[in-house]
Amino acid sequence: MTDSNKKPASSAPGKPAGRVAGRAGAPKKKQPPKQGPGKTGMRAAAKARAKATEKAKAQGLPPPPKPVSTEALTPGKRALAWTHTARFLTTAPELKHLPRVDMPEIAFVGRSNAGKSTCINTLTQQHRLAFASKTPGRTQSINLFSLGKQGVMDAVLADLPGYGYAAVPKEAKYRWQQVMGNYLQTRDNLKAVVLLCDPRLGLTELDEILLDVIRPRVEEGLKFLVLLTKSDKLNKTEAAKALSIVRLQAGGGDVKLFSSLKRRGVEEVAQHLWDWAHPAEKPAKPAKAAPEDLPEIND
Ligand code: GDP
Repeated sequence: MTDSNKKPASSAPGKPAGRVAGRAGAPKKKQPPKQGPGKTGMRAAAKARAKATEKAKAQGLPPPPKPVSTEALTPGKRALAWTHTARFLTTAPELKHLPRVDMPEIAFVGRSNAGKSTCINTLTQQHRLAFASKTPGRTQSINLFSLGKQGVMDAVLADLPGYGYAAVPKEAKYRWQQVMGNYLQTRDNLKAVVLLCDPRLGLTELDEILLDVIRPRVEEGLKFLVLLTKSDKLNKTEAAKALSIVRLQAGGGDVKLFSSLKRRGVEEVAQHLWDWAHPAEKPAKPAKAAPEDLPEIND
């Protein structure tokens, strides 16, 4: 025990200790050191950040984004502060070139021009994180982005190339279907898929093929969300109609309206990403499944 924890000897019962301690001649109460209790933690965080910056510099990568204090934020704002930490991790033309990552991964898929790059840039509040290119072939790779506060990665976003672009040669289309099918069926750490769809086109044949590919994994617990992008282009009636049609097509899956232009649904989707990546931090729901039906938890 330190002196500061001891009661002043002259403290009279019933009188505030402060008044007694303040009197001339009374033993001076030892003041706690000026630095706040959070300072040690802040120093450790600054050290961790300096280390992460150094590591990024050595690898020729940009420095990690500045930390944002997220303690006083609403869940939606906290999720947005988290998505803002996204940084380019790697790009791979095929599944075998992708690094094995032991973190939850969330894939963004959709037809070319569905608004996928714009959506990723809006969610991460970065102008050019996802590369929006009108030139097919330039984005025929899987791009991974790391997420995590203070440079400590806790999830990955995967931006899969847009499909269905008419001008792409047949072989390239075929190669891409193989890569995408492979990725969606076998990527171990894949936790969720966000399918972006222009509601004026609805789900196309290629989107439906993709749904078929992931269905078995969705039944095993893979999360799945359809975003109807560019919803600012629809009036209320059109939006309601598009929602109900795509909900039917998606077999009752989660479908939401989204607009990068009007920032519609942005916080809500960021919150979904956060929840998928941090399932343990959600309030536990009463278990419905029998213990033997529960999925295995991989350490
Ligand atoms: P990607 O090929 O799926 O990555 O699509 P892009 O993100 O490049 O978007 C395709 C086009 O749709 C671009 O011209 C964007 O400016 C436009 N776009 C994307 N999101 C929105 C949106 O929320 N509202 C509107 N009105 N246009 C959008």
